[in-house]
Amino acid sequence: MKIHEYQAKELFARYGVPVPRGRVAATPAEARAIAQELGGKAVIKAQIHAGGRGKGRIVAPEEAPAMYRSLLSDPAAHEGQVRGPRVGGVRLVDSPEEAEREAANILGKVLVSIQTGPEGKPVRRVLVEEQSSVVREYYFSIIVDGATASPLILASSEGGQEIEVVARRNPDAIVRLPVNPAAGYQPYIGRVLAARLGFADPDLSAQLAKLAEGLYRCAVDNDASLVEVNPLVVTADGRLLALDAKFNLDDNALFRRQDLAALRDREQEDPLEVRAQELGIANYIKLEGNIGCIVNGAGLAMATMDVIKLAGGEPANFLDIGTVNDAQRVVNAIRVILEDPSVKAILINIFGGMARVDIIAQGVIEAFRQMEIRVPIVMRLVGTNLAEGEALLREAGISVIRAAELGEAAEKVVEAARAAAAS
Ligand code: GDP
Ligand code: MN
Repeated sequence: MKIHEYQAKELFARYGVPVPRGRVAATPAEARAIAQELGGKAVIKAQIHAGGRGKGRIVAPEEAPAMYRSLLSDPAAHEGQVRGPRVGGVRLVDSPEEAEREAANILGKVLVSIQTGPEGKPVRRVLVEEQSSVVREYYFSIIVDGATASPLILASSEGGQEIEVVARRNPDAIVRLPVNPAAGYQPYIGRVLAARLGFADPDLSAQLAKLAEGLYRCAVDNDASLVEVNPLVVTADGRLLALDAKFNLDDNALFRRQDLAALRDREQEDPLEVRAQELGIANYIKLEGNIGCIVNGAGLAMATMDVIKLAGGEPANFLDIGTVNDAQRVVNAIRVILEDPSVKAILINIFGGMARVDIIAQGVIEAFRQMEIRVPIVMRLVGTNLAEGEALLREAGISVIRAAELGEAAEKVVEAARAAAAS
């Protein structure tokens, strides 16, 4: 689960991490008042659950898909600016009046960045902060690294830009420091970080060590899956400051992090993913293709997506119905997938172990009873109670395409999607 930048900064501040002075505003008048408090000059930052805001663009909702394509195809010509006509998600202003005007331009619109997808994200709030005079930009994050089974600190002197780009162009510019979770944060980590990032000044090095420790405690205490500061900056007056802030909560910890769970902003989440959660399907992720997938088991779902791609198709989603013998779950899965207008065909791939094929068949039959299903459905079924399931499908007389093997199923569903898209 993601939270907004202003919420992450409040959290960081509680752990002694220095952040710019500022507050969040929901109206242009509030933005003006905050800029006034800050002395007039300010930064206005759109609050959305995606990065790349500075170079993103503020548009009306109907303009979002076209702008998204422009940003991908010709970034230099379309990227947002902090001042000037191409209004991005981060704007510098010189007076309270200008703060009000810029906030009015941004609030209620949609911000499109290369991370938002073609629909963009609605902007309901802006963070109004003091301007900082930036001397250098760094990158700092803490993730949970499966490979070392520990928290991993990533840092780089190549901050400000996307870390994926740095990783590709100059992987050596990224410092990677695993932290032994049993021992916890140790003072040597700060010293190693300062040395590897080329901090010469002892005072700045001490600030870095304190910041790293604060963010580590923040991440561990709050069950973060990601804590990220990009850019972490050194200011002209020699301070280290978290200019941007990202905090992702591990969803498995939602039950014991009610304080953070309350910050959930569903409007920022994919509507179909929210819908899937409401229907009890926790493992649904919307993707960009046109073949809907219903699979039991996360591993099998991954393999199914691979085989669809191998057959020349593109999955429209990841969906693991889980190991539950619940026909209604199958109905709900089909319902969510059919709400995605890009879906042209559905592949149901079931490997019945503890899950029973006859229950899956009941769910599919029930879905045909409840809904008008116009997209072709390909089913590959094996395992427990296969014969019973097949008998049910035969008796119901519903029209599904059957396949015995996964490869064959993928080819059939890709073909069906192609035919449906062409007609
Ligand atoms: P992101 O684009 O969503 O990652 O948003 P950021 O918070 O990282 O802001 C984008 C860029 O705006 C930063 O990399 C900075 O270069 C710039 N920026 C943001 N605030 C300030 C500021 O107070 N002063 C200056 N000079 N630049 C700023
Ligand atoms: Mn950033």
